[in-house]
Amino acid sequence: MKKLGFGLMRLPLLEGGSEDQIDIELMKKMTDLFMERGFTYYDTAYMYHRGMSERAFKEAVVERFPRECFTITDKMPMMMVQEEADLERLFNEQLERTGAGYFDYYWLHNLNRRSYETAVRTNAFAFVQKKMEEGLVKHLGFSFHDNAELLDRILTEHPETEIVQLQINYLDWNDPFVQSGKCYDVAVKHGKLITVMEPVKGGKLAALPEEAMEKLRAIDPKASPASFAIRFVASLPNVFMVLSGMSNLAQMEDNSAFMQEFKPLTEEEKEVLKECADIIRRSKAVPCTACRYCTEGCPMQIPIPDYFVLYNNVLENPGNDWTLQGNKRNYARLQDAGAGKASECLGCGLCEAACPQHINIPELMPKLAEVLEG
Ligand code: SF4
Ligand code: SF4
Repeated sequence: MKKLGFGLMRLPLLEGGSEDQIDIELMKKMTDLFMERGFTYYDTAYMYHRGMSERAFKEAVVERFPRECFTITDKMPMMMVQEEADLERLFNEQLERTGAGYFDYYWLHNLNRRSYETAVRTNAFAFVQKKMEEGLVKHLGFSFHDNAELLDRILTEHPETEIVQLQINYLDWNDPFVQSGKCYDVAVKHGKLITVMEPVKGGKLAALPEEAMEKLRAIDPKASPASFAIRFVASLPNVFMVLSGMSNLAQMEDNSAFMQEFKPLTEEEKEVLKECADIIRRSKAVPCTACRYCTEGCPMQIPIPDYFVLYNNVLENPGNDWTLQGNKRNYARLQDAGAGKASECLGCGLCEAACPQHINIPELMPKLAEVLEG
């Protein structure tokens, strides 16, 4: 199977339309091109487009192509599951919404510390296994949004898992919170196949700072920045599918063109992407590259680069309370693990002296504390 999947979470919308008003005619054109070029894998979920993604899939794909010509992944919305009986109700609703008859791949959606507890309490893994016995699901897996340690625990406790869906991209590979690289290694250790979500980081890796664009143009002036991001993940040996949440015909045209004859990244290209990741990090509000030279000497055990990741996330999403609260939670988690608070900074300057980016860390710590401790 070709390694590009059509992620149905950012579908084109009718002009001025809200999230649930999908431009179905445009989606059909995108689907036609996708199928013409030999791609077959679709990925939807109960929640996408407020429930309309599954219905649009039925109209654009199920009702227009023979069932054996495509595969579909759907996901149990664990955030909506309170008790075991909910699993059957939601699953049946998804069968009805998609009209797919059966799901080739079926995931427990968005497992993290909390939703995994729900999955254990409601026997969600056993439920999907039962659906496999009934012929309504072909492969069992889960999508995951937490750290490598929890992924290791879940895969140890549920070896029946066949596939995990992870957030992987070249910018998050060493990110201390997303932990793309660590999670990939855990999945490989357990011998699992991987589908990748957010290879272009929600579009962020499609529009790069000019310095990074120049580096990519020097390798191939015609290739889009997104093509490098998608090829990065598709080159990882255990990745069997890369999802792209395409929103228009141009994106479909571009992605399906370079993935039709997929070429793994060369060593030179991998090195250039590492340089691009550094450039992107430097272009952030706080241009920290996460080299960690500053942390060694800090008398207060302040995990400076980890805090800058959180601080940048908040500054890049002004007015977004969801982002603020999420980053505050991650900030508190680091202290639970023994880190010093930004407000405990002594202003000694040892970190600044060690920083190759010459970031004025002592000046930033109180500002960061105001945002993340306030
Ligand atoms: S200035 Fe603050 S953050 Fe930097 S080394 Fe001193 S105590 Fe740590
Ligand atoms: S030394 Fe500077 S660039 Fe490196 S992690 Fe610390 S703050 Fe970031």
